[in-house]
Amino acid sequence: MTGTRTDFKTALENGDTILVAEGYVREFGRRGYLKMGPFIPEVVLDYPHLVQNMYEEFAHAGSDVVEALTYYGHREKLRLIGREDELEKLNRSALKMARKVADDHNKWMAAGICNSAVYEPDDEKARSETKQIFQEQIEWAVEENADYIIGETFNDYGEAALALQSIQEFGKGLPAVITLTAYFPDVTTDNVPLPEACRRLEEHGAAVVGLNCGRGPRTMIPLIKEIKKVCKGPIAALPVPFRTTDECKTFQSLKDPETGKPVYPNDLECVRCSNSDIRYFAEEAKEIGIKYVGLCCGNCGQYFRELAEAFGRRPLASKYSTDMKKNQFLGATKGNVNTARADLIRDFVYGNYRHENC
Ligand SMILES: [Zn+2]
Repeated sequence: MTGTRTDFKTALENGDTILVAEGYVREFGRRGYLKMGPFIPEVVLDYPHLVQNMYEEFAHAGSDVVEALTYYGHREKLRLIGREDELEKLNRSALKMARKVADDHNKWMAAGICNSAVYEPDDEKARSETKQIFQEQIEWAVEENADYIIGETFNDYGEAALALQSIQEFGKGLPAVITLTAYFPDVTTDNVPLPEACRRLEEHGAAVVGLNCGRGPRTMIPLIKEIKKVCKGPIAALPVPFRTTDECKTFQSLKDPETGKPVYPNDLECVRCSNSDIRYFAEEAKEIGIKYVGLCCGNCGQYFRELAEAFGRRPLASKYSTDMKKNQFLGATKGNVNTARADLIRDFVYGNYRHENC
């Protein structure tokens, strides 16, 4: 199906909505193929076929983009675990597999760069090291035919601006999507109000600006509205599917509603969004005109299909969307032929059965 895809930049100019599945790192952590904490995508080197499968899974669920799993696959992170010599192999392999799956499914392929872990605002040496980290990943992305480059999860405006500048310098004209991660209060960690940071990144030439990761839908949307007010072009919103609150605006700060204990990163299951939460987020994003929409850490096929369907899509996964009418007892209704047994089981399921001894 290669060749029928509209150019990414043209799609943005046409005002198309682009759906983007992120969240590979956390999902591999959950499945036992990636260490939570350092969050380095060693799975690309150790179990590449699983990475290809997850690309397939998100494409199947309705993502318009296959993002190569190079998040935290940069020099500084690989140095930390003694695998720096495999840096290029990891990046090229993640990119090549993403390109293949994107072509097979008629999707865009995005390369990704992210916060470097070495950046310091007023340290020239750290800035130049950061730029080198960006440069090599960007150059591999260009060579492996990425359609555009994502710079993501920056909490410093300065590092995000440096990422954008690097994409412009080394990216051979590929569009840049720059997403910041909002902690709280609503400023970057180098003290730029988040809407202003997005406005500046847009002014400096980012094709899309906005937020990813960090916040759940409930605490991201109000800030996205503020960003939308000051920007002219397409805005990105890719929250984490967790029930963040006004008190705990980020998933890192959430607490277990029963025990009051912090849940990040291992106990997040108790504060996951429901599918209906994802539907609600998608409807809101649609209503306020967000053109680059997705989910980050915590994303899975079921959520993404819900999001895609809310945008009127019918991804391949929609073939398997829930249909309780065909459930053997919860779907049967009274009055149907031969449902006495179903009625009985339903009463048991809902606790409505009254035994004579109860
Ligand atoms: Zn994330």
